[in-house]
Amino acid sequence: MTKTKIVATIGPASFDESTIIKMADKGLSTIRINTAHIDPGYITDVSKMVYKINSEHNRKLGIMVDLKGPELRTGKFPGGTLNIDTGKTYTISDIDSVKSDISINYKISSYLDKDTVIAINDGRVRFNVVSLENGIIKAKSMDNGVIHDRSRVNIPGKYIELGVLTDRDKLFIEEGLKNNVNFYALSFVQSRENVYELQDYIFDKKGQGDIISKIETKSGYDSIESIVKVSDFIMVARGDLGVELPLKEVAMAQKRIINISHKYAVPTIVATQMLESMVNSDSPTRAEVSDVTNAILDDTDALMLSEETAMGKYPVEAVTYLYEISKYVESQFMSFPEPENFMVDPIAFSVAKGVKIMSSTIDVNSIIALTISGHTAKIISAIRPVNDIYAVVQSEWLARSLNLMKGVIPVVLPREYAQSENIYEIISKISPLANLKPGEKTIVVSGSPSFYLGGTNNIRVLSIGTFMGRGYPAGRSITGKIDIDRSGQGNIIILDRYDSSIDFSKYDAAIIKSDVTNRIIDTFIQAGKTLVYNTEFVSEIKTGSTISIDADTGIITCI
Ligand code: PGA
Ligand code: MN
Repeated sequence: MTKTKIVATIGPASFDESTIIKMADKGLSTIRINTAHIDPGYITDVSKMVYKINSEHNRKLGIMVDLKGPELRTGKFPGGTLNIDTGKTYTISDIDSVKSDISINYKISSYLDKDTVIAINDGRVRFNVVSLENGIIKAKSMDNGVIHDRSRVNIPGKYIELGVLTDRDKLFIEEGLKNNVNFYALSFVQSRENVYELQDYIFDKKGQGDIISKIETKSGYDSIESIVKVSDFIMVARGDLGVELPLKEVAMAQKRIINISHKYAVPTIVATQMLESMVNSDSPTRAEVSDVTNAILDDTDALMLSEETAMGKYPVEAVTYLYEISKYVESQFMSFPEPENFMVDPIAFSVAKGVKIMSSTIDVNSIIALTISGHTAKIISAIRPVNDIYAVVQSEWLARSLNLMKGVIPVVLPREYAQSENIYEIISKISPLANLKPGEKTIVVSGSPSFYLGGTNNIRVLSIGTFMGRGYPAGRSITGKIDIDRSGQGNIIILDRYDSSIDFSKYDAAIIKSDVTNRIIDTFIQAGKTLVYNTEFVSEIKTGSTISIDADTGIITCI
């Protein structure tokens, strides 16, 4: 799997079991439900299917309910559309009883002045306000184009106080809570207060859900730091952001939003038009591949598809492209800058920094995070170590949540593993997943006492396999067969004392239970051989058994 996570919006093009399974095989982490286009009951139907796939195919797909909030939209038009000509003046009204060319569903007049821009149909058709009189807005079109029934309306750059949750949103939150979905994406977040409103609502319902704040207005972007601080995830919602900000500013805004989120260890999602041409085409444009590459280099946690998977012709191919691009980019560019300092939790931050330094200094092949709340895994993910992070948790819900964070592979183990003494059992469960081999090393990070909610404060470096003993190491790490009785069955010899009559050229390594001189150590190193001396506990080892010697620690393990 890739470290970068993939979100796909579900819709008619992808809402069937075999398509979801195919997308999951290509790294899909999370399914997004866009509530703009659904009826009550849909969240339940999707949840049933996704959870069935999770349990039958051992997946950790999470579900994101994307709430629309009070969107500004036009009313309907005779025949469903209205053609707009550049330079022509149109009447617009935000009062139901007033007749006009275009009606708008919220009171916006008080936000308008002469020359304010009103952008309709995702910014495709823009109008300049000419005058405001008696509930009628007169506005001159700046573009040729078409607007449709219930087209999106933006007033770029204005903070429009609409509140956050509509009755429709509340209905879908309740359905989401019943189905234990993981994420609630909140559209048009403009302030910290908006995030609180959704958090309070979920809290009052005694539910649980991570909040993804969608940054898609100028005011949201201007308040980014205070929004990040109270959000669980941040989405760079480029569709609307590209209307609210001048288009040329969106790519830089993406970098800044990711950067600030990263400082607070808040994971990010880059959304909209990532592979838009794949709605109709089986391959993306060069520019789209380049955009995906750059989003990964910006260090986002996740990439999101919208129409591509909801209603496009090639949903599986689109996910496959994100997967292949991520895999390639990650193989080329592994070292992502960590934030200079996390603005949160200095203890966990220092531990995470320690983990990162250790993982690049010592030859380890994985990081294992034992975590109750998910916090340890989140912080380790945010520091961007090179290794995969196996997050050992006790709940499927938390596993699905962590599955949207970069580099995190969640593993659910039952509570009986939740004892620090059982760490080798945990490792043996994870070994096949992480492809850990005896003799290799892993870093285990946790809060102590382990598996209780608490600070991340504990790092251990552990060798894989059953501990057989240890001594002072020299030379390089090696795995081989023991030859106690000198029958020639193995390439590692065990001796009580150094014996100069033995022909060591027949062996790759020697375990000598007692002390040796520096000259002997040197001879082994010069000959490219491994030596462990002055050992403890090695008496159990039998001829013919396979063991590993770790030259960093002097630990001897057996398979
Ligand atoms: P939407 O949000 O698809 O719900 O509009 C994403 C965006 O605006 O980019
Ligand atoms: Mn949007």
